[in-house]
Amino acid sequence: MTARVLVVDDIAANVKLLEARLTAEYFEVLTAYSGHEALEVLARERVDVVLLDVMMPGIDGFETARRIKSNPRTQHVPIIMVTALDQASDRVIGLEAGADDFLRKPVDDVALITRVKNVVRLKVLNDEMMARASTSQQMGIAASPHLNWAEAGNDGRILLVEDHPRAAQRIVEALRGTHKVDVEANPQAALLRAGDIPYDLLIVSLALQDADGLRLCSQVRSLDRIRHMPIIILVEEGEQARLLRGLDMGVNDYLTRPVDKNELAARVRTQITRKRYSDILRNRIEESVEMAITDGLTGLYNRRYMETHLATLITQAHDTGRPLSLLIADIDHFKRVNDTHGHDAGDAVLREFAVRFRRNTRGIDLACRLGGEEFVVIMPETDLRRAYQIGERLRATIAAETFALTNGGDLRVTASVGVAAVNFDTDSPTSLYKRADTALYAAKRDGRNRVIADAA
Ligand code: GH3
Ligand code: MG
Ligand code: MG
Repeated sequence: MTARVLVVDDIAANVKLLEARLTAEYFEVLTAYSGHEALEVLARERVDVVLLDVMMPGIDGFETARRIKSNPRTQHVPIIMVTALDQASDRVIGLEAGADDFLRKPVDDVALITRVKNVVRLKVLNDEMMARASTSQQMGIAASPHLNWAEAGNDGRILLVEDHPRAAQRIVEALRGTHKVDVEANPQAALLRAGDIPYDLLIVSLALQDADGLRLCSQVRSLDRIRHMPIIILVEEGEQARLLRGLDMGVNDYLTRPVDKNELAARVRTQITRKRYSDILRNRIEESVEMAITDGLTGLYNRRYMETHLATLITQAHDTGRPLSLLIADIDHFKRVNDTHGHDAGDAVLREFAVRFRRNTRGIDLACRLGGEEFVVIMPETDLRRAYQIGERLRATIAAETFALTNGGDLRVTASVGVAAVNFDTDSPTSLYKRADTALYAAKRDGRNRVIADAA
């Protein structure tokens, strides 16, 4: 993950320390030594997350946060407040001032990287939501009326897996009024429940008496229907090895006991907002605009929308210097499917192809049917190497299982894929598309059922 982190602290040694740790994780770091300087940097530079010290002379961290969040140009930049270890009251004020999360001094490495990654993920989705709103606007379509940005992280349905009644009660009470929390003591029962009810978030205790909470996390991640569900684990102080295993297997975030209510509120809100943005981007296209921007046969975005959105994203990529890739997939010898099995069978293959195609994309990716048997995915935040891997996974998904025909038979279908990544400063939508298309034709020429990445 590449992101630009602004570190703000009046003590130079603190800035240097955080800068060194973040740089080691390949984050790009900007620094400021006062609230005013931070606001100046934000006015001038693109920033993906602010690490903000609370105690500073001049305007303190709270006031700086308020100013960042009240400026429309910077209000979507996440803020992580760095507070003293025992200052619970700081976190209350911080949350009111607009903090998205907290770090406690002395800053722990795992906490630092986890916090930064989580808010950056949310920022990336948020940017994509705004880019799509702007594309819709350019196309003369009203943006989603159902989306209330400020409240996207409220009213969540949460499943808490905790067998200690008092611990469960404390969490239920802390979240009451903002979210609805169901408690389940048994992980297997929890898994069944998560399959039935569309929860926004799973919170799992790692201190269950007779069960391993991490096993539940790994089961959730392996089940198709619920694998996108965010997970927060509750760990004990010093339980570092299990915490790292959890993060490794795709747990999104954690809370250390005793659980701080404000940290709980912030982390729950981040995860729920992220899940909802992601779901909206992946699935929900408003009915009123559906006709204008989607393809009737597959429900994917249509060519017109793809072209407008690609232009928006390329401009954005040139502005921000962040990667962007494009993938074109074309079904091999599709004409034969129609010729042998009829046009309806061909349509059924296209629909199933679209289902597998979409399943292989993330929320921020844009999956489109260009027409015929040609499909495109636009992938923000994705470099060529990663795009190639995604293309290869898609190709394998298509080839691995036959496609069912309505007459009970089935059919082997393959596709060829071309990928290209944006060349900064030089690429236009047309040139990027063309390079992916040239790669696709190379894949066809080389024998089909393969992926070729543009070498430029
Ligand atoms: P290649 O491996 O080179 O891509 O061969 P191909 O047969 O897939 O490519 P070609 O472009 O020659 O043929 C595409 C076919 O797709 C021709 C057309 O009849 C069919 N087709 C296009 N749109 C639709 C559609 O909406 N439904 C159906 N059933 N077929 C379609
Ligand atoms: Mg074809
Ligand atoms: Mg074709």
